[in-house]
Amino acid sequence: ENPVQSNFIRQIVAADLASNKHNGKVATRFPPEPNGFLHIGHAKSICLNFTIAEENNGTCNLRFDDTNPEKESVEFMEAIERDVHWLGFQWAGKYHASDYFEQLYQYAIQLIKSGDAYVDSSSAEQIRLDRGTLTEPGRESPDRKRSIEENLDLFQRMRDGEFADGHYVLRAKIDMASPNINMRDPTIYRIRRVHHQRTGDDWCIYPMYDYTHCISDAIEGITHSLCTLEFEDHRPLYDWVLDKLQTPCHPQQIEFARLQLEYAVMSKRKLNQLVIEKHVSGWDDPRMPTIAGLRRAGYTPASIRDFCERIGVTKKDSWIKMGVLESCIREDLNENAPRRMAVLNPLRVVIENYADGATEDYQIANHPQKPEMGARKVSFGKVLYIEQDDFAEVPPKKFKRLVEGGEVRLRGSYVIKCERMIKDESGNIIELRCSYDPDTLGKNPEGRKVKGVIHWVSAEHSVPAEVRLYDRLFKAPNPDAEAHFLDALNPDSLEVLTDCRIEASLADAEPQSRFQFERTGYFCVDSIDSKPGKPVFNRTVTLRDTWAR
Ligand code: ATP
Ligand code: MG
Ligand code: MG
Repeated sequence: ENPVQSNFIRQIVAADLASNKHNGKVATRFPPEPNGFLHIGHAKSICLNFTIAEENNGTCNLRFDDTNPEKESVEFMEAIERDVHWLGFQWAGKYHASDYFEQLYQYAIQLIKSGDAYVDSSSAEQIRLDRGTLTEPGRESPDRKRSIEENLDLFQRMRDGEFADGHYVLRAKIDMASPNINMRDPTIYRIRRVHHQRTGDDWCIYPMYDYTHCISDAIEGITHSLCTLEFEDHRPLYDWVLDKLQTPCHPQQIEFARLQLEYAVMSKRKLNQLVIEKHVSGWDDPRMPTIAGLRRAGYTPASIRDFCERIGVTKKDSWIKMGVLESCIREDLNENAPRRMAVLNPLRVVIENYADGATEDYQIANHPQKPEMGARKVSFGKVLYIEQDDFAEVPPKKFKRLVEGGEVRLRGSYVIKCERMIKDESGNIIELRCSYDPDTLGKNPEGRKVKGVIHWVSAEHSVPAEVRLYDRLFKAPNPDAEAHFLDALNPDSLEVLTDCRIEASLADAEPQSRFQFERTGYFCVDSIDSKPGKPVFNRTVTLRDTWAR
């Protein structure tokens, strides 16, 4: 992994420690809303929050921001916990905004008592209109003058369920003329009869995000509340609420730029649509930019952490190329994945001068540069498979692989020569008749140079497998810029090869284990569809960067 680089947040935290601003403490939190699976953008926030804490002997909490019960679920919470753990992080405490519903309610009463909140009967639409625009000030609601006693009474009755959904809201009384529209008396509670996955039907009023978030941070003693840039102009509200309530702890909100990744969409609403409309097989489809999708594709936790460190943390929006993410996993797997031979599009080869029924076993190194990774047995026999495109009837210029009358080396084995090809009735090449040179095992042939080396498997000793080749899910670098993001879907993002032949040593490969298939890419055993004796492999990434094409 790359050396840790400083960033403006690391600098702020270091300065705060030096000045003892938060009594020498560093406490962060990762606050997902459980309305979908986590994606690579969340990984940026997770890595930032957890490493800032780790580097400073601090703590990082996991907090579910569960104030929108209609879109949230326990399934999503479990997926989020699994993904944070898998990335290699352990939270100090696990909390839910809903744990604080009673405290949030009491704080709201405190705001009413100090004259800083009022119950408004305006409709949501009216409130939106009255809040005005950047160029025109807002209009005060007639209910703004309601007495404290009446507000207390109505708010209590809102909680007690006396009013229909939407009949009243509680608003902070700030400044309807503020140049910052967030400060024009934002709604902080609304009536909504929805069953909550944790608090059941205890509540029919739910607090709004901006009000909930700052108080939740304060309750947990968070020192640095890291969030994305779109919350920059919510910060005055964050500070206003905590100042009014005089909370014992006042966290500092710091904003950073969201991760934007080319050829991907990151909004959970859109990811959800891809799943619901079955454009992908699920949240964990290997083409999804979710942590679960990346895991199933074969990404390692280390490669994702490395990516998050490489892209850095700034206040400036920028687009990251998919190639950056891919090069992180490519480097990891190049180091660590054992090599194997797998023939994705098999062409049968018969070695005519090799004895019927004979076999020989080779020990082939698992990694060319790492002898400590050991070796595995690979068997040779009279009938082999090679890749269809490693043979050419009419070879293009500089073709170094097999042609009629030409020679090629089989990786770890002999040099073979193609004597003739056999075609079916429609002219497809279905078999090659070859000879081998017994004198070429582990040494160069006499008097001639054989340049090409190809991979192969023995027909008798290999096993069948399914291999899934994934390509980019979208064909436009910014799908969100299209009229509709679904217009940018790549119709050829998945190619399923069902007749592959793989080395015997791969037959019982563990789900989720990763390999380099010589010359074709990095692959991972599919964790859902793979069965013993019927393995399924997902291509994690090609051997070289293909995004530039
Ligand atoms: P969405 O709009 O997709 O629902 P969100 O920001 O509402 O995303 P949350 O579950 O609220 O999703 O996010 C949890 C945390 O992760 C927040 O602090 C949020 O700022 C951060 N986060 C979300 N998306 C990104 C991203 N693309 N890059 C960096 N951080 C992100
Ligand atoms: Mg959201
Ligand atoms: Mg959110």
